[in-house]
Amino acid sequence: MKHKIIVTGGLGFIGSHTVVCLHEAGFEPIIIDNLSNSEASAMDGIEQLIGYKPIWANIDVNDKAALGNVIKEHQPQGVIHFAAFKAVGESVEKPLTYYRNNVGGLITLMEVLKEENIDNLVFSSSCTVYGEPDEIPVKESTQTKMAESPYGATKQIGEIILKDNANWLNTQCLRYFNPIGAHESGFIGELPIGVPNNLIPYLTQTVAGIRKELTVFGDDYNTTDGTCIRDYIHVMDLAEAHVFAINRLINGEQKEPFEVFNIGTGNGSSVLEVIQAFEKANGIPVPHKIGPRRAGDVIQVWAETTKVEHVLGWKAKRTLETMLKDAWNWQTKLS
Ligand code: UDP
Repeated sequence: MKHKIIVTGGLGFIGSHTVVCLHEAGFEPIIIDNLSNSEASAMDGIEQLIGYKPIWANIDVNDKAALGNVIKEHQPQGVIHFAAFKAVGESVEKPLTYYRNNVGGLITLMEVLKEENIDNLVFSSSCTVYGEPDEIPVKESTQTKMAESPYGATKQIGEIILKDNANWLNTQCLRYFNPIGAHESGFIGELPIGVPNNLIPYLTQTVAGIRKELTVFGDDYNTTDGTCIRDYIHVMDLAEAHVFAINRLINGEQKEPFEVFNIGTGNGSSVLEVIQAFEKANGIPVPHKIGPRRAGDVIQVWAETTKVEHVLGWKAKRTLETMLKDAWNWQTKLS
């Protein structure tokens, strides 16, 4: 019988790609998603890729009774917890909503796991926990800074809560850098609701003619070309990291009950470099202009990947060109 893995937020951007990878690795993914920031159509894409629709419970992770029923019924080997709000700007406007959902949801899930004696969890953390770092590339041991937003704070608090419960819970805490791209088939990808906040969906919607032009948020930073630098990672590489993390948990390979890994490529790219790389990869110009800085933006951050490569055994494989080709392929299928 296949090992069951509960995937909260399994219809979202990273969640849907991870569901596909789990299936390919021989697991049975069970999805929990209340569509608060995803669309049911993601299930059609998943079905096209894996040949069936996984079990899906349309419930809120804050609904302890409903969550408890699903987990009790399936007795999973582990849980991957994606379900959380993720827009930095929105979190500044609605901090309580973010703390309730991201922190409250995690606590509710942990209470249920404890009651059901399930002790394997993969947690979606973020490079936002590093704030504006003192050293680049950032290591897992790099001192974290005051979060720049309530969103970032929810991830820092989540990590603390998990560490405090390491006496009964084994956690793989994955700090994601900037996931972009889509499954190479174009069947699943990112589905931003409303006007996108993130660079790549805004860029691809601009090239598709949905937006007039992309604004580059500031070109007067102290970086190579004056624009901010990030570590962009293909969503499929990121999704595959979750299979490594789940296997490490299930096989009892953890050295400590709470382990942290940077999930990035180790390469930094500026906003202008991304635009140029998109134009080169797809042979299409990106209408853009330089605008003012965006409040709260970290200037530059990219990952030190030595630990994740040596300890987890995972390494990102796909290039920036592939990420941008797959992002455009997905956009063309959408519009
Ligand atoms: N960015 C930009 N224009 C946009 C959206 C983003 O210049 O319309 C820049 C942003 O300032 C940052 C980078 O692109 O330097 C990545 O931003 P994104 O919101 O995708 O991810 P973040 O790193 O903020 O989580």
